Amino acid sequence: MGPTDRDPPLLTLLRRMIAEQGPISVAAYMALALGHPRHGYYMTRDPFGARGDFITAPEISQLFGESLAVWCALAWAAMGRPAPVPLVELGPGRGTLLADLTRTLDRIAPDLAQAAALHLIESSPVLRRKQEAALHGRNAHWHDAIAEVPPGAMLLIANEFFDALPVQQFVRSGGDWRERKVDWNEGRQRLVFRAGPALRAAVPPALAAAPEGSVYESSPVAAALAEEIGARLAAAPGAALVIDYGRRATGAGDTLAAIQGGRKDADPLAAPGEADLTAHVDFAALAAAFAKGGARCWGPATQRELLRALGIEARLTSLGARADAAQAAALANGARRLIAPEGMGTLFLALAATSPGLPAPPGFEIPSPK
Ligand code: SAH
Repeated sequence: MGPTDRDPPLLTLLRRMIAEQGPISVAAYMALALGHPRHGYYMTRDPFGARGDFITAPEISQLFGESLAVWCALAWAAMGRPAPVPLVELGPGRGTLLADLTRTLDRIAPDLAQAAALHLIESSPVLRRKQEAALHGRNAHWHDAIAEVPPGAMLLIANEFFDALPVQQFVRSGGDWRERKVDWNEGRQRLVFRAGPALRAAVPPALAAAPEGSVYESSPVAAALAEEIGARLAAAPGAALVIDYGRRATGAGDTLAAIQGGRKDADPLAAPGEADLTAHVDFAALAAAFAKGGARCWGPATQRELLRALGIEARLTSLGARADAAQAAALANGARRLIAPEGMGTLFLALAATSPGLPAPPGFEIPSPK
């Protein structure tokens, strides 16, 4: 059966690609499903908010961006207050985090608010328009890649960005590790996973004898980007903060997931371009890549530890005192969601990287073991 016009356009394109060149890697699939210039998930829509597919920390509460403003102000002071200074955000979504953060800097650190030039790394034209509206009147620049940000001192933040970068997957099958590929199954009329030829080197030695069916993920794109950021931090004073869900240690586990309409268990191969695809961030691999670039790493801390260290509770109290009852309840509810020990507060981890000689950034007073 040929493609039908009810098929998502990206599914038709993938079928044609696979027919011509054979099964494609999970990383290539993920990159196209999210980032295809015309049909990629992020390129065609605003997925955030109560009616969107998912809601992120800055969309839950202004207290998130306000707390990260405190982090930036303290990190900038430790860097020796370089001016001007690029304030870079990777994948800024609707621009809400930067809007809350810069509004707070105006109040708590006006000299940094003056010195900061905003640099937004964003691939989606739809979201760039939202960000422009959110940051109207600010000194802001948009880029496709961090290489376009002027060299020198830098502050960088990335919330729920690294989980959207493509991962490659390897599966233990027939006593060997094999790269997992995405293939078209004509009988079932759907995309399916298929194990490729046996490989040796791709998987860490600790997993060499993992049980049949084990999956190992790695993200060369994430590692290369973290190494590039690490090299910038080695060359000039700077600090970077990455917040995302993921795991502390490299290990086996299939975490590729599709999120559609608020459901986290959609089939990742069912609707390329129509569902968000994510994979857990491997914080150990990310820290190793920052360090390889020359930066020093701190943490990970839990989101709860970080936000509490930055004073989220005191800020809630002071805002609540000036709000009406309904606003105060909404603020308290938002803060609770961000720091809940049984929810986002511990599912989300924060990793910091700094230039080598700098002190522990706020919230990271205990350095990471490596
Ligand atoms: N930080 C925001 C949005 C997170 S969603 C928040 O917390 O609400 C991921 C963001 O990264 C989106 O803005 C998406 O368009 C962007 N993005 C995903 N992959 C990207 C890439 N390879 N390059 C640049 N931006 C990317």
